[in-house]
Amino acid sequence: MTAERILPQADAAPQLSDGKRVIVKIGSALLVDKERGTVKRAWLETLGADLLKLRERGQEVLIVSSGAIAVGRRHLGLPARGKLKLEESQAAAAAGMVRLAHAYQEVLGVHDVTVAQVLLTLDDTENRRRYLNARNTVDQIIRLGAVPLINENDTVATDEIRFGDNDRLAARVAAMVGADTLVLLSSSDGLYESDPSQDPDAQHVPLVHGAITPEIEAMAGVKMTDDGSGGMVTKLVAARMSMAAGCRMVIANGLADHPLARMEDGGKVTWFLPDANPLTARKQWISGSLSPDGAIVVDAGAERALAQGKSLLPAGVTGVEGDFERGDSVVVKSAAGELLGRGLVAYSAEDARRIKGAKSKEIEDILGYRGRDEMIHRDDLVLD
Ligand code: GLU
Repeated sequence: MTAERILPQADAAPQLSDGKRVIVKIGSALLVDKERGTVKRAWLETLGADLLKLRERGQEVLIVSSGAIAVGRRHLGLPARGKLKLEESQAAAAAGMVRLAHAYQEVLGVHDVTVAQVLLTLDDTENRRRYLNARNTVDQIIRLGAVPLINENDTVATDEIRFGDNDRLAARVAAMVGADTLVLLSSSDGLYESDPSQDPDAQHVPLVHGAITPEIEAMAGVKMTDDGSGGMVTKLVAARMSMAAGCRMVIANGLADHPLARMEDGGKVTWFLPDANPLTARKQWISGSLSPDGAIVVDAGAERALAQGKSLLPAGVTGVEGDFERGDSVVVKSAAGELLGRGLVAYSAEDARRIKGAKSKEIEDILGYRGRDEMIHRDDLVLD
């Protein structure tokens, strides 16, 4: 890759303030005093003030925080440094997460912001049903005005079934909740073309556009300082996942106070910019990669509504074919059998059959629970 392709255009410098739904991932090295097993409170307060500024200008904020194991280990009498056995890490995470969550709530609570803890396992992001549950819950927390505080559920995660690093967890969460900006705060200020500790002329890379090429990957082989589990290689994996979901990602050095304000004041960072936005990326994924599990047949009124960009409501559904679960991919067909598009359905085939033709407000009476108003939400629908 040539320097011209990775250097920013003067008129296209990405701004944190352009993000609508922003995830900030905080590495352990920034947050935890390892010797004492305490949260670095003064630093966290400056981060809290920065996050508040984002919220005040109308941006949605989610936190993915590391540090549970680093905080918890000292309080269980485990050594401050060195690798722990799996079961020790699991116990340390349990003890540490309480302190971590408490610290975030205290710091943001000063500004009347409620923090809501969400602990996820790899399964929660891979199993379709659990994925949808997690997505809806995080979405609901944001809608209710609180800040989701997300970490891996290290206490129940075992070696084979864990992310292990929060860089990739954060990228997966970004895809899950349709975030448009992911900020990785760590002790690194991003990518260099060569090792800055060896080469005083090492060139910093401020912007990567569209794809992680082998040239970019080669740069990550260069040793970067990072105390967390991540390192630059996992940050690039996270960048690839994030860009595939249409979410921009930025690596910024968060060691000093007010890390987000510093970044906005021109601090050294590396941005990774995707070609698509989250909604387009999601729609590409829906139309491209899924084999349908069933079909929904709609009436003429619904067909017109879909063409106008509306969601598919149960009232317009006349038939349900096949066997599928909530969140599966289905095709949408007209009464004449013409293929209209495809989407992710909000109900299982069994429930869809029970509510077809019904008004959305009748759903709860029929099914005994209050599901979504739409059979297929327009964000989950791609027309042919
Ligand atoms: N989930 C781990 C913790 O909270 C951190 C993983 C990481 O360092 O990325 O301790």
